[in-house]
Amino acid sequence: MRGRLVVGNWKMNGGLAPNTALLGALSAGWQGGAGRRLGVCVPLPYLAQARDALAGSEITWGAQDVSAHGSGAYTGEVSAAMLAEFGCAFALTGHSERRQLHGETNAQVAAKAAAALDVGVIAIVCIGETLAEREAGQTETVIGDQFDVVAAALGPRLARVVMAYEPVWAIGTGRTASPEQAQTVHAFLRQRLASVGAADVTLLYGGSVKAANAAALFAMPDVDGGLIGGASLDANEFLAIARA
Ligand code: PEP
Repeated sequence: MRGRLVVGNWKMNGGLAPNTALLGALSAGWQGGAGRRLGVCVPLPYLAQARDALAGSEITWGAQDVSAHGSGAYTGEVSAAMLAEFGCAFALTGHSERRQLHGETNAQVAAKAAAALDVGVIAIVCIGETLAEREAGQTETVIGDQFDVVAAALGPRLARVVMAYEPVWAIGTGRTASPEQAQTVHAFLRQRLASVGAADVTLLYGGSVKAANAAALFAMPDVDGGLIGGASLDANEFLAIARA
């Protein structure tokens, strides 16, 4: 269901002491309401800490990846059922760092999203083009291919995902898509979603979002919020983005 949402992706950062300070500041500083939601995706060893620190707040929490498999000989992986049993609201799927560093394919991303949705964990499906692909004029082809594989695998379940457009050239680089560049891709995605009966999916933008540029990005008609990496590690910055 479409709504205002900001999610932090801590990536492989954190530690018990800094997490306590960060989660405490978020919990104390966030008032939801007006359909605005805030979440954090933390490294697996800190899920329990996030759950405990955010209990009673309106902030949700989840994981940064999920296995496509149900159970068995998959050393190091964590199943969707485990995340669901633990109480995770979200699992990121297809983050560009997983695609680039771990070779995840569109089909694997789709399978992970399906596994999450099937046990009630919201899959945040990340898609985006590289700088070379953008400069070659292939943005819509690449995004369209990524979208189509997920849409075909999920069928009607697609309506339950959150989708994040994250241009690879903007992630962790300090180089943000302009609001117009983000809107162009979001409008393309919204149209694709509508064509398969999922026009109400929440669409996030991610890539070097900061307090200084969040309001302009989030003012775009098809940008419903953000997936925030580096800036989500600073409570004041993250809260300012969420309030935008
Ligand atoms: C991300 O990790 O999803 C991300 C968008 O990172 P950053 O905000 O640091 O660019």
